[in-house]
Amino acid sequence: MTARVTSIRDRQAETQREPATAPATAEVPLSELSGWGRYPVARGRERRSADLAAITDGAALSRGLGRSYGDASLPAVERDVLAGSVLADRLLHFDPATGILRAEAGLSLRALKQWSMPRGWFTPVTPGTQFVTLGGMVAADVHGKMHHVDGCFGEHVTRLLLRVADGRVVECSDTQEPELFRATLGGMGLTGHILEVEFRMRRIPSPWIWQETEVCPTFDALLDAVRAASTKWPLTVSWADFLDFGPRMGRGLLNKGRWAEPSEAPPRLPRFREPVPVPPVFPDWFLQPWMGRLFNRFVYAAMSARPPHGIVHPESFFYPLDIVRDWNRLYGRRGFTQYQCLLPTTDGYAAHHRLLDVLRRWRAPSFVVVIKDCGAEGKGMLSFPKPGISYAIDMPVSAQTQALVDALNEVVIAGGGRVYLAKDAFTRAEDFRRMEPRLEAWQRVRRQWDPHGTLRSAQSVRVFGDTP
Ligand SMILES: Cc1cc2nc3c(=O)[nH]c(=O)nc-3n(C[C@H](O)[C@H](O)[C@H](O)COP(=O)(O)OP(=O)(O)OC[C@H]3O[C@@H](n4cnc5c(N)ncnc54)[C@H](O)[C@@H]3O)c2cc1C
Repeated sequence: MTARVTSIRDRQAETQREPATAPATAEVPLSELSGWGRYPVARGRERRSADLAAITDGAALSRGLGRSYGDASLPAVERDVLAGSVLADRLLHFDPATGILRAEAGLSLRALKQWSMPRGWFTPVTPGTQFVTLGGMVAADVHGKMHHVDGCFGEHVTRLLLRVADGRVVECSDTQEPELFRATLGGMGLTGHILEVEFRMRRIPSPWIWQETEVCPTFDALLDAVRAASTKWPLTVSWADFLDFGPRMGRGLLNKGRWAEPSEAPPRLPRFREPVPVPPVFPDWFLQPWMGRLFNRFVYAAMSARPPHGIVHPESFFYPLDIVRDWNRLYGRRGFTQYQCLLPTTDGYAAHHRLLDVLRRWRAPSFVVVIKDCGAEGKGMLSFPKPGISYAIDMPVSAQTQALVDALNEVVIAGGGRVYLAKDAFTRAEDFRRMEPRLEAWQRVRRQWDPHGTLRSAQSVRVFGDTP
């Protein structure tokens, strides 16, 4: 069966980007580019075309929907051309007998799900937003609420078609160029431009989610609940209050979920919701910690009073933040960063409390904090998750952010953890080296395929010491 889904091309991409028709070879004007955190901002040229093979030729980096937070999808220098994949979004092949699907790298997760859910299929792994491309999902080797059971997206990828640095188009998989394959899963676009992705879809019993919510009055109660839930539930995620710096800091709500059985679920399909837009610019002072504190108290009280279980819409379960389009503008022009780190639990929660202590000492406002347990390390050579607990902490960028991230990274290094490159904008090269024993092996594979350092990003200059 072969299907094409260009008719449901991601609307977010269309509204945010200029017209689709520029020929692959046309000179693209310079524009300001940023990731989802809107920090940093770089000037660069992003070439877009449905002909991904053409525009990746000679490009320094690929870029999808720009949902990585920091500088992973930004050019190292102004003259570097980026290949924007979003118009290369055809679904090329699907085999319902095996669930194997092959698509162009620019296909968005949202478009794919709109096609697959009515047919009873879902991706085996999804991150917390559906406005990502398949190429971006592979390059970051994304994880989701199912990591403790299903691992990263890369565990389900069966084959990739890559344009490597010398211009060749190479197929890789577990058996074909396996080192290149493993280095590309989580390799942040630095081993080659992903042209096509083949992976195994998952059958779902219904398109609805059965959810249970647990209210956890302390930080330790929340961590215990997160770990206990992962032994019983296929989907778990929690939200924590990190704005109340008193003894309540770290209390939160844990959501546990599974796909609903047909007998439990409404007979209709869930309707795909269009995100509600926000005004284009908010003043820098808009998001104040006191607002966040009030909001957190309200959410905690409201959730404590609600029935603790029931059927919920898959979008509100998997993508609660997607409900508001462009919510990243709430932080104003200064932008924000998401500090996401993983801390093992082998030595208990001492390092986890030290993380809280640093945030408390710095009075660091953390507006959204998502806590999730992670399962085994996957095959991606630089993939982020490994056993432990992951913290994703949104913070406005300020003059203190670099020093704060340095301090948080000290806790993470001492605790045997690591940070997630797809969110990072501040980690120093030296710190990343200290937290990443796999780095040398990954660099060796990368250099083998790109001896002249052709593929690079602003992040690879900052974190891997590439030449700008
Ligand atoms: C609200 C929100 C929630 C999120 N939740 C999660 C989560 O739960 N789990 C998680 O793992 N991540 C999460 N993320 C991060 C997001 O899933 C990743 O950053 C993802 O890589 C973004 O995909 P993209 O298409 O926007 O890629 P971009 O941001 O455009 O690029 C990301 C990286 O992929 C590379 N890349 C993109 N396309 C290609 C290609 N075709 N070939 C080679 N390299 C390519 C880029 O060079 C860059 O290094 C979240 C992000 C947001 C905004």
